[in-house]
Amino acid sequence: QTAFKYIDSIPRVSVKIHSNHRLGSGQFGTVYKAIWKKDECQTIECAVKSLNENASPEVNEEFCKEMTSMQRLAHSNIVRFFGVILDMPIFMVMEYCDGGALVDRLKNSNRPLLLTTMINYAEQIVDGMCYLASQKVVHRDLAARNILLTKGEKVVKIGDLGLARIVYDNTYVQVQRRKLPIAWTAPEALFNRLFSHASDVWAFGVTLWEMFSYGEEPWSTFSPTELANELRKGAKLRRTPRCPTPIYELMLKCWRDAPESRPEFSQLKEDLPKTQFEIYEC
Ligand code: ADP
Repeated sequence: QTAFKYIDSIPRVSVKIHSNHRLGSGQFGTVYKAIWKKDECQTIECAVKSLNENASPEVNEEFCKEMTSMQRLAHSNIVRFFGVILDMPIFMVMEYCDGGALVDRLKNSNRPLLLTTMINYAEQIVDGMCYLASQKVVHRDLAARNILLTKGEKVVKIGDLGLARIVYDNTYVQVQRRKLPIAWTAPEALFNRLFSHASDVWAFGVTLWEMFSYGEEPWSTFSPTELANELRKGAKLRRTPRCPTPIYELMLKCWRDAPESRPEFSQLKEDLPKTQFEIYEC
């Protein structure tokens, strides 16, 4: 518990968890909707994520370090982290996004998202990533499953900063062996454990691919070993039928083999709006 001492602690009694309102579950635990009575005047709708009770002390400590750094992040396209409920089970308290995960929304073929909406979402994601880069945070798990919709589907927010790391020297952060979302992971991160803003850019390219393929799973027919082999050989995801060529070209830039030759998020912020014109000129 000492590891948590720098994290804003939220009293258990101030949070009413709707245990029958399960929002989903992920690798760290289950997510529920809740109401947090912050003080006499403020009641905030929030989402709480339980941390696995059987997590090892190391994992726990690591998770705390991350929360400590995450609580200073504030941006309209990043899910706000409010604090932690320290009683067992431990809950992480965060901003509630009423539209669910982008990957689920993409798959809803009854109401397909418009191209302009998707480009707008991509721009918002890039805004959030520019902010993270400015704060020297490497996300390491950017994917459509970790983007949440809110405000009547007008706003998207980057969530799940559970794997994020702070980079101090602007270059790389090396991490221990752990399960990686291979299909989203840049080769230098996959094979040499070198994560950077450039490996986040790679993952952004895969996120774009998910968006413009309407929620398809990248490399779905490959086993992890086969996929690792393919990536080692330099294989890239193919353009899916409904993906506009200018967007696919942007993805290819994000997947350049040399990390330093990939565009930075600040560059993508300039390039994305241009694709809109190119698409409508075609
Ligand atoms: P994972 O660990 O697989 O990335 P999470 O544990 O972060 O997933 O979340 C699992 C599911 O819970 C998400 O797919 C989403 O539907 C829901 N969820 C997570 N965070 C929030 C939130 N802040 N607001 C609303 N729903 C959320």
